[in-house]
Amino acid sequence: MASGDLKGVIFSGMRPTGMLHLGNYLGALKNWVELQQEYRCIYCVVDIHALTTIEGPTETAAMQPHIRDMVLDWLAAGIDPERTVVFVQSHVPEVMTLHTLLSMVTPLGWLMRVPTFKEKVRQMQETEESVNYGLVGYPVLQTADIILYKGDTVPVGKDQVPHVELAREIVRRFNNRYGDTFPEPQSKLTEDPLIIGLDGHQKMSKSLDNHLELAATPEETARRVSTAFTDPQRVRRDIPGRPEVCNIYSLHKILSPAGEVSAVYDECTTARRGCVDCKRHLAVSINNYLEPFRQRRREYEARPGFVNEVLEDGANRARAVARRTIDEVYQKMGLA
Ligand code: SF4
Repeated sequence: MASGDLKGVIFSGMRPTGMLHLGNYLGALKNWVELQQEYRCIYCVVDIHALTTIEGPTETAAMQPHIRDMVLDWLAAGIDPERTVVFVQSHVPEVMTLHTLLSMVTPLGWLMRVPTFKEKVRQMQETEESVNYGLVGYPVLQTADIILYKGDTVPVGKDQVPHVELAREIVRRFNNRYGDTFPEPQSKLTEDPLIIGLDGHQKMSKSLDNHLELAATPEETARRVSTAFTDPQRVRRDIPGRPEVCNIYSLHKILSPAGEVSAVYDECTTARRGCVDCKRHLAVSINNYLEPFRQRRREYEARPGFVNEVLEDGANRARAVARRTIDEVYQKMGLA
């Protein structure tokens, strides 16, 4: 698609969590790669957002290798740094300027009502009075992230739609007060398949240690899959299994060829297949599925300085847009 035919500007970000896992890939990254065909995409490592829950400089320094690992995963998955802008949030400090200016049009009540704010306060075992201001202002910074680059489309799962709605309200207020400046960002509802982890019942997540890293070796993948929970009623091999309650079967459905999936179902429900063999089979499917990704990742890893070059180029391109936006905002607000 020629650049003139693109549907709009997508902004999306991920916190620097290091190596990504299968849940991250199937839930978000795969979609990011596909969106490059139809949109101008801006993908950002949101390290300033991560500071809201970081205790000090040691943790901040520990983000650096995580940033590199995560960006390597993005590139290996198919994010094209020539077509797409890939950068680190803190490398374009204009976002903090816009965040401050947007804070002046955002009522505190809007922020305190955000369901994820209350949830975060609860998770951190804090009170609304004791949490840092950054956490309260998180949605304002998110809005600044999107509109600094005149992003008009944000890929989100259902639970994040209220965030984009809040961004629209902030933009509306700004535009009403200072004149049309920003497009109101729209949610692009994306399928967010729930990928359950190796424990068999919770969403795949690094913090729960129930994940499968994309860049793991085939042996490590097989070892971790072998620890996965299956149908709890199947305590002996001669008891027929229930694939519909088994996460190994759910993963086969996504990652194994269709013909093999029906064989898994038949052999499981007639006790002709044991869970150990079934998990070995799944590990082979996962390793086959991820081999092209892993091959590309090895190639990128072997190029010293490559990730830094991508991030530097991305920051330069992002900053050029960001400066123009800040100039325009200063003009509109009467600060210039
Ligand atoms: S045979 Fe496979 S699908 Fe059936 S219960 Fe065991 S692991 Fe699950």
